[in-house]
Amino acid sequence: DGDLVKIGEAIFKFLTGENVENSYHEEIYRMTIMDGLTGVHNKRFFSEFLEREMARCARYERPLSLVMFDLDHFKKVNDQHGHLTGDYVLREICRRLTARIRREELLARYGGEEFAAVLPETGRTGALEFGEQIRQLVARDPFEFEGDRIGVTISVGISVLDREPIDLPAFIKLADDNLYIAKRQGRDCVVG
Ligand code: GH3
Ligand code: MG
Ligand code: MG
Repeated sequence: DGDLVKIGEAIFKFLTGENVENSYHEEIYRMTIMDGLTGVHNKRFFSEFLEREMARCARYERPLSLVMFDLDHFKKVNDQHGHLTGDYVLREICRRLTARIRREELLARYGGEEFAAVLPETGRTGALEFGEQIRQLVARDPFEFEGDRIGVTISVGISVLDREPIDLPAFIKLADDNLYIAKRQGRDCVVG
């Protein structure tokens, strides 16, 4: 049960008995909430997760932070090393960062080379610390792919939910605006 059988370009999964339908539905569900390239959650799951956490944190007056980051000059990586290398870098960044993400937190691919982390129970100081840690996790060691060594940096923008009520799009926009400021001003992490 569960064996993969490759015939030409097609890979078939062998499933037995009652298992078949369950596995099929689970796989379809997984595909709707995960990003196929990097294996982290996708934007759809991220939005639902964040909305739920915002409601919970507002209700119980708990802190919540949203950390958004974007790879710097990533177009150049693709242009100089090719898209396969670019894809590898995206996957590898997620692998490095997944090790740092706690169970109750979420890492998601928001779009092309832009990612988001939702940190429940984390306020301004903790979020800045997290932002700095992930920045170093990416920048510290170059990515190695087929003999190439590629140095990558990220810029980080953070929004923090404390007392002021704010809706989901505004909360995301705040982190995104801070990310834009970080990028344009050449700063590492900007929190607002
Ligand atoms: P900036 O420092 O301003 O962020 O510059 P940038 O080059 O990172 O940003 P820009 O928005 O100009 O380009 C983003 C690039 O990300 C372009 C696109 O080819 C690349 N990209 C987006 N998604 C993927 C992907 O799935 N795989 C690969 N290899 N590249 C991707
Ligand atoms: Mg970029
Ligand atoms: Mg971008």
